[in-house]
Amino acid sequence: MILDSGYIIEKRPVNDIDAFIKIASRKGVFSYFIPRGNHFSSRLLGLFQPFYRVKFLYDVKGSGGLRVIYDYKSYEKLSDTVIFDEKKREFLFYLIKIYNRLTNITTGKIIMDLFDKSIKMLYNDNINVKGLSFSFLVTFLFYEGFYPSILTCSNCNREIHSYDFSIESGGFICDKCKKTKKYTKTNEFFYRALLYGKTNPKKIMQKFNWNEKILEFYDIIRKYFNYHFFGAE
Ligand SMILES: [Zn+2]
Repeated sequence: MILDSGYIIEKRPVNDIDAFIKIASRKGVFSYFIPRGNHFSSRLLGLFQPFYRVKFLYDVKGSGGLRVIYDYKSYEKLSDTVIFDEKKREFLFYLIKIYNRLTNITTGKIIMDLFDKSIKMLYNDNINVKGLSFSFLVTFLFYEGFYPSILTCSNCNREIHSYDFSIESGGFICDKCKKTKKYTKTNEFFYRALLYGKTNPKKIMQKFNWNEKILEFYDIIRKYFNYHFFGAE
């Protein structure tokens, strides 16, 4: 038996009585069948909801299937101050969307720490959510292995120093390739932030108060992420 904990990222009914939940944990993202998890008289009904952190025991049986023996007393609910803040909630739903897509986490521990840390930071009243989201995305891109190309052209691989960023090519782009690819002109601050993230991937989650000149291009990173991770801008 192994004790683990994770966040519920999705719950859906199977029928009037039972439910399926999806939990993101250090071991990956798994779906679990919860008998009576959807029953109106069940005390599990209010407990297994998105953003609840649950501890559970699991046992790997035979073909590698997982069986959860959950401890229903050990759940933690995410604070209402987080859930009722519009910007924070938007970021949380985005996190859920990302984690829902991860079925085979190879870097499970790192990704779960990232998830944990982001959620904890949301408890801070003064947190700049956009800055936090920027740090999260940059770190995630690094560990999942699709970080934007910075020192070489993302299209032709030539060494460059450019502030022109192409989402579809996968990073900064040279003058020649610019002629055939869609790109956005960014600035030195944005360029340096990405270079910093690439060389200091462990430090970036300690930084949230990014200069506004960097966050001006936050949407570029979010679109880049969506394009390469979800397959759509
Ligand atoms: Zn090029």
